[in-house]
Amino acid sequence: MNFSELGLRPAYARRCESLGYEKPTTIQERAIPVVLTGADLIGCAETGTGKTAAFLLPTMQRMSEAPRPGVRVLVLAPTRELVTQIHESYKQLAPKGSAKCAAVIGGASMSNQTDALRRGAGVVVATPGRLLDHVERRTVDLSFVEVLVLDEADRMLDMGFLPAIRRILAELPEKRQTLLFSATMSPEIESLARSTMKQPKMVEVSPRGRAAVTVEQTAYPVALESKTALLLDLLERERDNFERVLVFTRTRRGAERLSHILLARDHKVNRIHADRTQPQREAALRGFKDGQTRVLVATDIAARGIDVESISHVINYDVPTAPEDYVHRIGRTGRAGKTGRAITLVTPVDELSMRAIERLTGQAVERVVLPSFGGAPAVAQRAAVGAAKPFRAMRGAGSSSRRSFRPRRAGR
Ligand code: AMP
Repeated sequence: MNFSELGLRPAYARRCESLGYEKPTTIQERAIPVVLTGADLIGCAETGTGKTAAFLLPTMQRMSEAPRPGVRVLVLAPTRELVTQIHESYKQLAPKGSAKCAAVIGGASMSNQTDALRRGAGVVVATPGRLLDHVERRTVDLSFVEVLVLDEADRMLDMGFLPAIRRILAELPEKRQTLLFSATMSPEIESLARSTMKQPKMVEVSPRGRAAVTVEQTAYPVALESKTALLLDLLERERDNFERVLVFTRTRRGAERLSHILLARDHKVNRIHADRTQPQREAALRGFKDGQTRVLVATDIAARGIDVESISHVINYDVPTAPEDYVHRIGRTGRAGKTGRAITLVTPVDELSMRAIERLTGQAVERVVLPSFGGAPAVAQRAAVGAAKPFRAMRGAGSSSRRSFRPRRAGR
């Protein structure tokens, strides 16, 4: 299948070629023909699957068929980074003469955004909170919107955006196309879909919540007090080629603390979290993209929408409390068919969260025990949480004992 066979006109197929997209990804293959018909669509797709182009390309083509003024396409996304990323993708994918696109995000100048909206943006990509500010000031008119995209809808609901989304929905014409993308499907998402969509077609590229298959996942059982030492050991011993590493912490303070420790050890490090200003966050991302920064320490929310090519490793310094966050985190590596590695530091109290993650993804994560970092043998930890699952011990190199287990596929 190529892009033209999906119903895209040559101008769009050529843009894809020039970006080096050899063939459509699965979500593109399934979603593009549906979106071109004007039908509502629910895309259950995790990040890194090519979902942005899956909704942008057919929407751009449909809009170009009957040019009209006003904001015709509205894309809502949970974070500034994701909005910026979608805006960039639009600029890359849009052939000459396409409608202008405005990015509307918190933490950036309101008046610049007002100017961009006044200059006649046909496409608006926004975070819900800031868009609502514009709606209230009447600096944006949403009454001509023909296509609404809710991207990473699960995350928007997790972040408490539902009331803002509902208020925005009240500004939109009833007759429109609605496209909803989500990595996971919860009852809340289904209820949002029921109340906002008309007979949506469902496209699911991988079973719900399934982690990207191109990511090799490893967990290191570790004592709480040895986590930082283990992280430093991993980064400094060059066991593996840690070229571009995204490290997740649970809290902003944790991200600050860890990045200062890494800096003191001469690592090229920066951090990205909600207490950093927008220019600081942008500079951190730029440095990470152009290779000046090797290690970027991030919190979950700040990391949404980070689309940096070739992240070699995602390290979960803290295990996420919500299992869905694990899927989002490791989706930052192994993007678009490349292989990546995800490493998770698991203290004894994290074992339960780790099991919830394995249940959600349906994949067992290999445990590597390094006794010098207080990693109790995984079998003892699993017994402690009442999980009698089969193990297969393998000979490990040096001081590490490598245990791999393959439990039955956990039910979802
Ligand atoms: P997304 O899931 O939209 O965040 O996309 C993930 C990455 O895949 C982005 O860097 C895109 O540029 C890239 N991408 C999207 N479609 C394709 C394709 N058909 N072939 C190769 N890469 C793609």
